Amino acid sequence: MEDRFGHHISYLRVSITDRCNERCQYCMPYEEQDWLDRSNVLSYEELLRVIRVGAGLGVSKVRITGGEPLTRRNVLWFFEQLQAIEKIEDIGISTNGTLLARATEDGITTAQALKNAGVRTVNISLDTLDPAEYAKATGRDYFDRAIEGIDAAREAGFEKIKINSVLMRHRNEHELWDLVEFARERDLLLRFIELMPVSTTEVLTEENFLPAGEAKKLLEFRLGKFEARPNIRTNGPASYYEIPGTGQIIGFIGAMTNLHFCETCNKLRLTCEGKLRPCLGSHHEFDMREVLRDTSMTDEDVAKFFLDVVDRKPEQHEFRENYQPGRRMVAIGG
Ligand code: SAM
Ligand code: SF4
Repeated sequence: MEDRFGHHISYLRVSITDRCNERCQYCMPYEEQDWLDRSNVLSYEELLRVIRVGAGLGVSKVRITGGEPLTRRNVLWFFEQLQAIEKIEDIGISTNGTLLARATEDGITTAQALKNAGVRTVNISLDTLDPAEYAKATGRDYFDRAIEGIDAAREAGFEKIKINSVLMRHRNEHELWDLVEFARERDLLLRFIELMPVSTTEVLTEENFLPAGEAKKLLEFRLGKFEARPNIRTNGPASYYEIPGTGQIIGFIGAMTNLHFCETCNKLRLTCEGKLRPCLGSHHEFDMREVLRDTSMTDEDVAKFFLDVVDRKPEQHEFRENYQPGRRMVAIGG
């Protein structure tokens, strides 16, 4: 699938729930909590149908996200079904990690069960190594659980484990080195992510925003000049660098400051209530649930809908221009 601007679409990011066991300020502020009615959330069968149709059109990579995807009931069953879809070659999950160490009915960790169900890459969010700051930022005292989750993922032997840290000036600015060290010691791929205006809270202020370039400079001051590694690509928009001396690779995701951010975009997003969204940073989204729940609509109709949305994919996001925060990340699926 190719859009009007030459983006090749091969990646579908699927949110399976708007619910979460944490309350990150930049994603799900307390004042913003109103859950979708369950009947409005796509069933697993509906989600799998969209993915199956997408696979027929060229989608080969799927990342499951939320909310916190591991809070949805029978999620392991869903992953097993996903694995069986032909042409889906790469399955990933984005998680806060707090439920990865939890034991399943079979007595193995959830991380191990995900690995057994064909998940190749796990992205785990961790913005701080300070338990008190973690509790403040996420609204939950789950720091130890997140670390246990990271350990469980390492034990499960995934192909790749990435740590995503959202940059915030007054929150983790002083911890960047510690996060780099943490990732190096555990052989994890760390990426620093710029705060994006996908919320409605006071957290998204100019004052809190820490540009990726500045974070890189802060790190280079201590660790020496980084070497750009443009050949490293992880199916996403991160720019990767090698740290001198250690050979460690780290990434920066500068959605706000990198003017070339959208050039290699290969993604569509499906929200848990069935909106197909051509771009995270644009308010356009198209209601696929209506098509899925209309019994007269065939898979060909679903495919046509899919292609129409690809056709509407913008050249680039609108975060820097007229974007007004209006939809929480937890509702869109990060
Ligand atoms: N619950 C999972 C997690 O936390 O990884 C998956 C969903 S979460 C919405 C996906 C990613 O979006 C996380 O890495 C989170 O840090 C990021 N995120 C949420 N709100 C954000 C914001 N306003 N700016 C930048 N990243 C954000
Ligand atoms: Fe939950 Fe992830 Fe959003 Fe935090 S970033 S509130 S863990 S969905």
